[in-house]
Amino acid sequence: MNKAIKKVLVVNSGSSSLKYQLFDMTTETRLAKGLVERIGAGGPANHAEALKKVVEELGNPKDIDAIGHRVLHGGETFCDSVLMNKANMAKAKKLVKFGPLHMPANLGGIEACEKIFKGVPNVGVFDTAFHQTMPDCAALYAIDQKFYKKYGIRKYGFHGTSHKFVTQAAAKFLKKPLSKVNLVTCHLGNGSSLAAIKNGEVVDTTMGLTPLAGLVMGTRCGDIDAAAVLSLMESEKKTPAEMDTILNKQSGLQAVSGVKGGDMRDICTNAAKGDKKAELALEMWAYRVALYIGAYNTVVGGADAIILTGGIGENSAEGRERVIGRLGALGVKLDKKTNAKTRGVTAVISAKGSKIPVIVLPTNEELMIARDTVRVLGN
Ligand code: AMP
Repeated sequence: MNKAIKKVLVVNSGSSSLKYQLFDMTTETRLAKGLVERIGAGGPANHAEALKKVVEELGNPKDIDAIGHRVLHGGETFCDSVLMNKANMAKAKKLVKFGPLHMPANLGGIEACEKIFKGVPNVGVFDTAFHQTMPDCAALYAIDQKFYKKYGIRKYGFHGTSHKFVTQAAAKFLKKPLSKVNLVTCHLGNGSSLAAIKNGEVVDTTMGLTPLAGLVMGTRCGDIDAAAVLSLMESEKKTPAEMDTILNKQSGLQAVSGVKGGDMRDICTNAAKGDKKAELALEMWAYRVALYIGAYNTVVGGADAIILTGGIGENSAEGRERVIGRLGALGVKLDKKTNAKTRGVTAVISAKGSKIPVIVLPTNEELMIARDTVRVLGN
């Protein structure tokens, strides 16, 4: 495949929506972006119909060179982005069990593109791939290993594309070779995860077999004693599916603060008015983030920087202050003034003399997917 890849369409095909961005990769500029909603629920009947809408919105382009797709789960099969040829599609279909909601939509989006953009190569970029460098001691659960072998029960981690983007951007910002950079990267959004980056590679991350583990999130509880889940299922007579809904959709910041959706802005507003539930939610959230930053600083043997990204990491001065304020033992100090005015831009928000710099770095998962698409097809 020697043709120069110039125009790359990035597709994020979800269960009921399809997001897209079109890039000119000679300059890495975004040419278009859009969203098709309510697929199969009053809008387009399926992903192929949704893509036809995208083609219309883009003015029937004839010059798309490649398409990059966000795919939720690569299991242990995909440690990097790949060309989604027949063999790789067949392998990916075996991973649907790890993401029964998202994977059919992700793979359906690829199949629809094969039909609509005939002859244009499709590259799969997996949310789990960047985490595949984790050593066994971090990735495996301490259960009978026959369960790991039989069902693939282990830690995979998610948000890999975002952690990869900010890792590369941070190495550049710090003027360090990627292979020598040690970081704690914090993707703090509605869904949140941390990654421990040693020599440019992931050595641990907070999400697990599924995105439920780790931090307190918008509506997910994060880490919880597995026996507490069993106890609740028994007391409340809940099925696994019902329990899944409680832990993923009815917990986290939302459950503790009482704010629907667990939106950080609303919770901060309520806390400022003296709402005790909102205050507790923020403290639980910040405590867990700080706890993992401390742990991961140890894991990477001392971080060159702490990176904050995602909707909260990039925008919420209060959220950042609550986390960084807990890192005194690491010698980390916040520059409160810079923190207060930093929103959605790259900035060092730690004070001079902070032992570890804290850097806000806006993520760009779509651009990372486009870059990977170019790289994979160039190889
Ligand atoms: P994400 O999932 O990355 O889009 O992040 C969503 C989260 O970011 C929500 O909790 C929002 O409340 C939070 N967020 C977005 N913009 C702001 C802002 N300007 N100030 C505080 N929080 C924000």
